Amino acid sequence: MLRQVNLQTDMVRRGTYGRRVVRPMIPRYITIHSTQNYTAGARQHSLALKNGALRSPKTRYGNRIGFLIWHFTIDQGVAIQHMPTTEQGEHADFGGPGNRLSIGIEMCENRGNNRSATTERTAKLTAVLMKKNRIPLQNVVPHYHWPRRGKSPANKNCPHFLMDGGRPGSKWRGFLGRVSYYYRRMDG
Ligand SMILES: [Zn+2]
Repeated sequence: MLRQVNLQTDMVRRGTYGRRVVRPMIPRYITIHSTQNYTAGARQHSLALKNGALRSPKTRYGNRIGFLIWHFTIDQGVAIQHMPTTEQGEHADFGGPGNRLSIGIEMCENRGNNRSATTERTAKLTAVLMKKNRIPLQNVVPHYHWPRRGKSPANKNCPHFLMDGGRPGSKWRGFLGRVSYYYRRMDG
């Protein structure tokens, strides 16, 4: 399964940008996002994270370190890992449990990128991460799941193409079905 994911590692250097503060994590959830960036694929997101290009203002209830960071970015051809799954990211809900307890995965939406290939690769990586970290399917959640304090609406329509009317419905259940299918196909 991992071979089909085509997982590559291109870590943000420890101590810099999104990893400038290293906060340990025991992952209990997996949070699925989509980038809403229509020009950049996985490699370009990886470069942007390594160059400190993805800033986010520190505010009262906001980002804790001034940079965005998450664990994996996926497009039609590759999954790229940016930070260890034993460190907290900044992708979900500021100081909330989404950031403190979850592995963040971003799906690319750049023009020309095949959405179903991206979603299938994401489902496979999610299954691998569930097994490795003993995370149950009910703890695989959309970004929507984590309310953001001080934001309106608190629950973001993300990943928007797997939401129905801005919230989880049949498309999200369909995605979980794919995750479950790949999980059951893995041996051992
Ligand atoms: Zn999101």
